[in-house]
Amino acid sequence: MGQPQQNLLDPHSEKDLNLEALWMPFTHNRYFKQNHARRIIASAEGSYFTTTEGNRIYDALSGLWCCGLGHRHPRIVAAVKKQLDTLDYATAFQMGHAPAFRLAERIAAAAPGDLNHVFFANSGSEAVETAMKIALAYHRIRGEGQRTRIIGREKGYHGVGFGGISVGGMVANRKMYAASMLPGVDHLPHTQNLKEMAFSRGSPTWGAHLADDLERLVALHDASTIAAVIVEPMQGSAGVVVPPVGYLKRLREICSKHGILLIFDEVICGFGRMGTPFAAQHFDVTPDILTFAKAVNNGLVPLGGVIAHKDIYNAFMTGPEHMVEFFHGYTYSGHPLAVAAALATQDVIADENIYARVNELVPVLEDAIHSLRGEANIIDIRNSQLAAAVEFTPIDGKPGLRAIRIFEEALKRGVMFRFTGDIIATGPTYISTPDEIRNMVAVLRESIRAAG
Ligand code: PLP
Repeated sequence: MGQPQQNLLDPHSEKDLNLEALWMPFTHNRYFKQNHARRIIASAEGSYFTTTEGNRIYDALSGLWCCGLGHRHPRIVAAVKKQLDTLDYATAFQMGHAPAFRLAERIAAAAPGDLNHVFFANSGSEAVETAMKIALAYHRIRGEGQRTRIIGREKGYHGVGFGGISVGGMVANRKMYAASMLPGVDHLPHTQNLKEMAFSRGSPTWGAHLADDLERLVALHDASTIAAVIVEPMQGSAGVVVPPVGYLKRLREICSKHGILLIFDEVICGFGRMGTPFAAQHFDVTPDILTFAKAVNNGLVPLGGVIAHKDIYNAFMTGPEHMVEFFHGYTYSGHPLAVAAALATQDVIADENIYARVNELVPVLEDAIHSLRGEANIIDIRNSQLAAAVEFTPIDGKPGLRAIRIFEEALKRGVMFRFTGDIIATGPTYISTPDEIRNMVAVLRESIRAAG
């Protein structure tokens, strides 16, 4: 009432755009609404966005770690359009559609070891909740229902469901809900120690022993009460926290010794970021359960999922055959459009030799990002395959503001990074050229200098 009618908006124009009604996710809403220059995206192609002002911006984060093959990849777009002409939606409960079975088969074939049963969700958060429920139910089905604890890790990000924030380790995501966390959860220490590992190239050589803390938690709680350990092999959202050499192997050994399931949350790592289908293969450690989302279908239509070891799936396949074995699922589990995008994505990954291309870019990114050492206020530079981050000392009394300023200076120069705390992170597209990556880092250098 009283407000003038909005015109029908041209998505390429921000004329008449009223920003107020939208409550933006994980965003400084008030700051954004006053400082949105260059921050409203109108279109995208390949590794570039175009803003409503017409600025061309290199996407240094592959969307939000999801569009590694580049935006609007013609083969993926065509597959989704074609799917729309045949089947828009099909329930996944008690019915099926052929592409979902085909996709599950392909994902299982890409997964390590005997991880060969795939459950579809629609996001990373849902994938995590699903994985945690599978782990708890698995133990109960086997007569070990007292295994109710799940161990997460400090700095971990596992989405925003109550399960995910309980095992997650980011205080801002947790503190409002302290009384609503899952009971019995505990946390491993994070693996970032700037004194010992700052400026490591790739995985730090210090820190494998941090996995031994799991033995301390076993001694504290008893293994018979612990269902699973969940970790991101590389912690993307915390600002590219890289696992020390040998750390994940040690976690695997301790989990196996005590009958604890190991869950890798590969929502960021899966389908290319590590130069392999999964971080499990890159780090040569096979979990029992693995989550994926984002790059599985290049971010085109929401899709996430869980891959479970065959023994876990088989444990559920008991009891009368006409009965539902796992009371869990989503209206959009395996949505036809998401599946069509994922099948095309898997084809593109194979046909365009994407994992090899990522591996060729890794040393380019590593050399370029570490060349920033010595620029003002940098306290760490780290990288893991095609992901990297630069951490800065905070401005006195204003944590986070330095990274925002650098992010804004970079946007002015045509590059979109990610800021989180006083960290600038990048996860370039897999189709970037070496020169684009070097230019991106050159822009970061200028932006650090300009931000002061
Ligand atoms: N798990 C990990 C490791 C993630 O990085 C993310 C998102 O970045 C999630 C879960 C949550 O995914 P979504 O935002 O799709 O719910």
